[in-house]
Amino acid sequence: MVNEDIRRENKVITNHQHDLASGPAASAAALKVENLSKVFESAAGRVLALKKINFTINKGEFVSIIGPSGSGKSTLLNMIGALDRPTFGKVFIGGIDIFLLRDSEVASIRNNMIGFIFQSFNLINRTTVQKNVEIPSIVSRNGGGRKERADRCLKILDVLGIKDKAKFKPSSLSGGQQQRVAIARALMNNPTIILADEPTGNLDTKTGNEVFDLLKLLSKKFRRTIVMVTHNDELSKKTDRSIYIRDGIVEKEVTN
Ligand code: ADP
Ligand code: MG
Repeated sequence: MVNEDIRRENKVITNHQHDLASGPAASAAALKVENLSKVFESAAGRVLALKKINFTINKGEFVSIIGPSGSGKSTLLNMIGALDRPTFGKVFIGGIDIFLLRDSEVASIRNNMIGFIFQSFNLINRTTVQKNVEIPSIVSRNGGGRKERADRCLKILDVLGIKDKAKFKPSSLSGGQQQRVAIARALMNNPTIILADEPTGNLDTKTGNEVFDLLKLLSKKFRRTIVMVTHNDELSKKTDRSIYIRDGIVEKEVTN
């Protein structure tokens, strides 16, 4: 049964990589959402957090999602990243309708195709920077041996300018350095899509701009598809396209 699961997961990844490279689904779309809707039921009542959201994001595009607090940005990002299931509607990643897949297959796509960056870094403080960055490859068991993992981790830390911090605990670093560690962790499994939820929200303006410039570098030099949720209009305008969300709907899209 376990072998069967692994075999299926590998097949999904292989097919998916094939689609991205050359298959019939090798259109420009990295991801697409179709009538995406989310209803939360709670003691306080029913919240329609997302109401039939539609958009397409192309490979290598750097898109920002901007809107007031409570407008549904995090809910949207969590569903694009398969952290949560929609009430109805679809999410396509590289042409695959992900919520038609079994949970283990969805998890495999999440671990291998998508890197997450959060406002509050979400690092584990009782272990080193290096171990934090290596976690995704340990979880997905496809990062090779210990040495390969360490080499890859140190290479990424080097690109992000924090290789000298590998043996430090995250809590001993500045906010900007901690967010670089989180970016390194997001890159560990070489994802095609990076999702960032207010990645500069906990940083001062200068540090926030530096972190933003790193995301821009990943987009332009390394051709990653990036979706960044932000409150910051100035940063949003520096991305390829801004999608404005209000009350769970797309208010407008602006190409910058
Ligand atoms: P944003 O990220 O734009 O600030 P969210 O996506 O976090 O907005 O929230 C959108 C709406 O959905 C808000 O009204 C929020 O209170 C509600 N919401 C989000 N998560 C939950 C949940 N787990 N249970 C109930 N309501 C939720
Ligand atoms: Mg949010």
